Amino acid sequence: MRHDLSRPQPVAVIRNLGILAHVDAGKTTVTERMLFAAGVVHKRGEVHDGTTVTDFDPQERDRGITIFAAAVSCGWNGHRLNLIDTPGHVDFSDEVERSLRVLDGAVAVFDAVAGVEPQSEAVWRRADRYGVPRIAFVNKMDRAGADLEAALASIRERLHPLPVAVQLPIGSEAEFTGVVDLLRMRATLWVDGSGDAQDSAIPEALVELARERRQALEEVVAERHPAAFDEFVERSQVSAETLRAALRDLTISGEVVVVLCGAAYRNRGIEPLLDAVVDYLPSPLDRPAVSGVSAVGDVGDVDGASGASGASGASGASAVSDASDAGDAGDAGDAGDAGDAGANGDGVSRAADPAQPLTALAFKVQATGTGRLTYLRLYSGTLHKGDSVLDVGARRVERIGRVLRVQADRHTEVPQAVAGDIVAVVGLKSARVGATLCAPEAPILLEPPTSTEPVVSVAVEAARNADTEKLAVALAQAVEADPSLVVRADRETGQTLLSGLGELHLEVALEKIRRDRGVDVRVGRPQVAYREAVVHGVSGFVYRHVKQDGGSGQFAHIVLDVEPLTGHVGDVGFAFESTVTGGRVPREFIRAVEAGARDALASGPRGGHPVTGLRVTLTDGATHVKDSSELAFRAAGRFGVEAALRAGELAVLEPIAEVTVTAPEDAVGTVLGDLSARRGRITASTVRGGSATVTAMVPLAEVFGYATALRGRTQGRGTFTATPAGYAQAPTSAVAAAATVAARQSR
Ligand code: GDP
Repeated sequence: MRHDLSRPQPVAVIRNLGILAHVDAGKTTVTERMLFAAGVVHKRGEVHDGTTVTDFDPQERDRGITIFAAAVSCGWNGHRLNLIDTPGHVDFSDEVERSLRVLDGAVAVFDAVAGVEPQSEAVWRRADRYGVPRIAFVNKMDRAGADLEAALASIRERLHPLPVAVQLPIGSEAEFTGVVDLLRMRATLWVDGSGDAQDSAIPEALVELARERRQALEEVVAERHPAAFDEFVERSQVSAETLRAALRDLTISGEVVVVLCGAAYRNRGIEPLLDAVVDYLPSPLDRPAVSGVSAVGDVGDVDGASGASGASGASGASAVSDASDAGDAGDAGDAGDAGDAGANGDGVSRAADPAQPLTALAFKVQATGTGRLTYLRLYSGTLHKGDSVLDVGARRVERIGRVLRVQADRHTEVPQAVAGDIVAVVGLKSARVGATLCAPEAPILLEPPTSTEPVVSVAVEAARNADTEKLAVALAQAVEADPSLVVRADRETGQTLLSGLGELHLEVALEKIRRDRGVDVRVGRPQVAYREAVVHGVSGFVYRHVKQDGGSGQFAHIVLDVEPLTGHVGDVGFAFESTVTGGRVPREFIRAVEAGARDALASGPRGGHPVTGLRVTLTDGATHVKDSSELAFRAAGRFGVEAALRAGELAVLEPIAEVTVTAPEDAVGTVLGDLSARRGRITASTVRGGSATVTAMVPLAEVFGYATALRGRTQGRGTFTATPAGYAQAPTSAVAAAATVAARQSR
C-alpha cells in the first residue's frame, strides 16, 4: 500500500500527526512499526538494538526516550502521513508545544497495563489547549495485566468523557492475537511472528459481544451526529460508512476519542491504526485557517527597537529576558523582539490553499552533515525549489535551495510542496526556529511559538583548552535548534553559562555535544535564575538627569510611578505607559524613557538579578530647548527607574517547578516527607491500584538531584516529572545559600 511520495498531491490526502505518549508507553515502537507497515523502513528496528528510524540521535537510543523532533513522511492508502515526533518528556515543554503547533491531529499511546499516567495527562492537557483532535492507541496488549476496559475507564476518568472503542481485542496478554473491527464486523488476526494480518470472520465466542458493542457504538454516535441519527431512526441501525464519517466529524470536533488497541512490539494492530489515522484524523483542510498579523515587508530595515508597550504575560517575559541578556554573546532571547519589529498589527488569516500566497512556519532547525536543514510547516501557498521567501522577523529575503521530504535519515528531493504539507528545506541560512517565512509580496507574521524563559544555568567549559572553540560552535548550534536554551557569558566571572528549562534539559543538550562533537565538557553545579520583583512601589518619583560639563549639556526631567505589574508577587512581565499630557515630553523622548526603563531591568537592587513583574508609568516631565535629547531621556529612564526601585520594596523570586511523582503506595509517606523537606507545597495526592501520584509545587533549586534521591527512597520504583511553573518569593536563607555556592564555584 505504499505510494509515490514525490508526486504532487491534493491537500485533502495529507495527515500531519504526532504520537503523544508517556515515556515508555511505546511511542518509538509505534512510530517505527507504522513506518515499517507503510514500507518506508524495510528492516523492522527494535528500540533496544538502536536501529529505529525516528530516534536517529544516538543519545535517544541510549536513553530510550524520544527528545529531538523529526518529521517523517510515509504513504498509506493514497494518503500522505507526516509523523511529527513529539518529545514524551514534559521537561522539554517548549519542544512539545512547537510540535503541537504544527500538527493537525495526534495518536495518544497508552500502556495497556498502566493506563493513563501523569505524563500522558500533562501532554493531553497541552494538546487540549491547542485544540488538537486525537485518537487513542492502547499499546502493549500482550503484557501480563493488560486490560483494555481498565484503560478506557482511566481515559474516561482522567482525560475525556467519551472514549469509544472501535475494536474488541481477541485474546489477552500472551494470547492477544487479533482484534474485531466493530465497523466492518470482521476480525483481523496476527497468527504468526511475521505480523502479517489475516482477515477472517469474527470468532464464534465473540460474536454476541461484538454485536452488543456495535449496537452501543451506533447509539453513542447517533446521539451526537445528525446523519447517523437520521439513519438510526429510519433503519434502526447505522452503516459502517456512516459511522466512519460521523466518527471523523466527532473526532475533529473533539466530542469523542476513538480508541484502538494493539501490541506494537509484536507488530499487532498497526495497519488498523494507520487506517484510523486516515479515516478519523483531520487533513489540513479540516483545520481552521492560520492567522497572523500583516507585516511590513521593507527588507533591509533591521531596526530592532520595538515600539510595543503594555506587554503582559509571555511577551513581557521575553522582554525581561532580552534585557537581562543584553550585551551578551550568542543569546537566543531576541527572537521575540525581532518578530515584533515588522508587524503592523492587522489580523490576517490564510486558508490551506495552494493558490494563496505562501505562509510557512520554521519549527525545527537541524545542523546535519550536509548542511542546515529547516523543517517547515506550510499553511498556505506552494513552495518551489529556488523560490525567494521573506523571513519576516529578520526582514531578510532568503532563497530556498532544495525541498526535501524526510523519511527519517533518508531524504527525497521534491520539486514543490503545497499548503498543509511538512517538508525540510536546504539553503536557508538564517531563519530560526519560530520564524515565519512567506511570499515577499504578501508579508504575514505568525505568532511565534511560546518560548519559556530559561530558569536553570550551569557553567560550562571545555575540559581541554584546545576544544574551547569547538564547544562555542556546538553551543551556538544547540541554541539554534532549541530556542529554550540560552548561552551567555557571566558578567562577573566571564564563565560561559548554558541556561535551559531544567536539569535534565541541560544534561541532554550537553550529552549531545559530547557525543556529536567529541568535546569533553566540564559542567558546574546547576543554579536557578532568581528574579526581583516590586512588592511596594513608589509614585510621583522625580528624577532629573542633568549634565553640564562643557559642550552641549544633557537635560531630562521625568516623573515616574513604579509599581507591581499585577496584584500577585511572582507574575512576570514588564509594562510601560505614559500619561504625560500636553506634549510636555515629545513622543520620541517617551520612547527613549521606555528603552531606558528596559535597560534598568537587567539588574535589580536586591542582588543584581533581572527585574520582572514591573509596571512603569511616566506621568510627567520637562525638557530643555537645547540640552534635551533621546540619549538624555534614555539615561533618565534607566537611572530614574533604578533609583525608584531602590526607594521601593523588592522581593527576590525563585523559579518553581510543578513536580509529579509516581511511586508505589507503600512509599508515599517517604515521598511526601521528602517533598516537604524540599520546601514543596503538596497540591494533590491520589492512590489508585497500589500506585500513588503526588503533585507538588517545589522550588526548582530543591529539585536538583531529586532523581537520585527518589530512586534511593523508592528502591528505583519511583518516577517524576518537573515542569516550569513560574516564580514565587524566595526565603532570604535560600538566596543566601545559593550566593555562597556561586561564590565558591567562581573561585
Ligand atoms: P517510548 O519511550 O514511548 O518511545 O517507548 P518505546 O517505544 O521505546 O518502548 C518502551 C519499551 O516498551 C521498549 O522496551 C519496548 O520494547 C516496549 N514495548 C513497546 N511496545 C510494546 C508492546 O506492544 N508490548 C510489549 N510487551 N512491550 C512493548
